Amino acid sequence: MRRLILSLTLVVFCTGLATAQMPIPNSGTKPVAAKPSKKPAPKKSVKKKKPAPKQPPAREMFGSVDTPSPLEARAIGSYSKGCLAGGISLPINGPDWQVMRLSRNRNWGSPQLIDYLERLSSDARALDGWPGLLVGDLSQPRGGPMLTGHTSHQVGLDADIWLTPMPDHTLSPEEREEMIAVTMLKDPLTVDTTVFTDMHVKFIRRAASYPQVARIFVHPAIKKSLCDRAALVGKDRAWLGKVRPWWNHHYHFHVRLACPPDMAGCKNQKPVKGDSGCGGKELDNWNSMLKRSAIWTAQQPIEPDNKKPRKKKNVRLRDLPADCKTVLTSGGHEPLALDAELPEAALLAAASKEAGQPIPLLSQAQLQTLVGGGRIGMLMPDRNPAR
Ligand SMILES: [Zn+2]
Repeated sequence: MRRLILSLTLVVFCTGLATAQMPIPNSGTKPVAAKPSKKPAPKKSVKKKKPAPKQPPAREMFGSVDTPSPLEARAIGSYSKGCLAGGISLPINGPDWQVMRLSRNRNWGSPQLIDYLERLSSDARALDGWPGLLVGDLSQPRGGPMLTGHTSHQVGLDADIWLTPMPDHTLSPEEREEMIAVTMLKDPLTVDTTVFTDMHVKFIRRAASYPQVARIFVHPAIKKSLCDRAALVGKDRAWLGKVRPWWNHHYHFHVRLACPPDMAGCKNQKPVKGDSGCGGKELDNWNSMLKRSAIWTAQQPIEPDNKKPRKKKNVRLRDLPADCKTVLTSGGHEPLALDAELPEAALLAAASKEAGQPIPLLSQAQLQTLVGGGRIGMLMPDRNPAR
């Protein structure tokens, strides 16, 4: 039963914000008048029975393993459909970093990701004055789909880094569970420049500057602010091309490394285009999507109604690369059986607190200016930051 409740309350995006903050515009399909037509004779339908699943969803199988696989390190598959062999953990305390939300046990990655985070934290502190990294989710010990949150982060090459600077003391385990990352936005469309400082701009530039970084995802308003302010921190603009706008990354950013060279079975995304991504229509398009999303959110009833939460698609082990089965069972691990309860640790991880503040809402005055009282329809977006 607990599994059933959990699966109904799953959310599917990078850090699991309220679904109401994520919609994108409806395409505005108009109803079409039905044409009179000859009814075809009813076909005799032979209903094929779907074979009953023999295993739980892959997110439950991977979400209930708390140790890495004793195999050679390898990112297997793609960022949103894969797993991690030979994952290693980022120590929870380093000279310039601290890992947050320890209950999630998601501080696992490829050796390349761990090296990157150690290097970034040391460089950002020494060269940009960033006090240290608060590190959010990397991957599970064997990667794979997660019980809550991310669609990606499956192969040990993705990491979430808070935009809140590290405090000057070692956080207690409780503080790491309870502390909430601060949003960089003053409203759904605009960065608060008193919070998102030049030091933040330098920090993101630093994070993007390493050749192994394929992409960095930030909220579109942060991307806009980076474009506007890049000149204040240096002449180079090439790094901006790797920084991609995406929903919800307003209190953290997401680093995605490219597949390490010669890693068999690791599937890269198409590389980003060479330009900064600051010109053209892209940011304008994002701005109008954000507007529609913010209007839709502001127009939702304050009391939540009885809408069913979105259900996560049941990806099965057979949908992942074949080697992921080896990853899951290596070291004598018995994968979770179909009828088994999820282990307590997995339930605790799934119940951990949202990492950041919600996106600010539009004020009534802003709402009036934007729509003058009209309503707006929405569809939910694809939440995998793939572009
Ligand atoms: Zn992420």
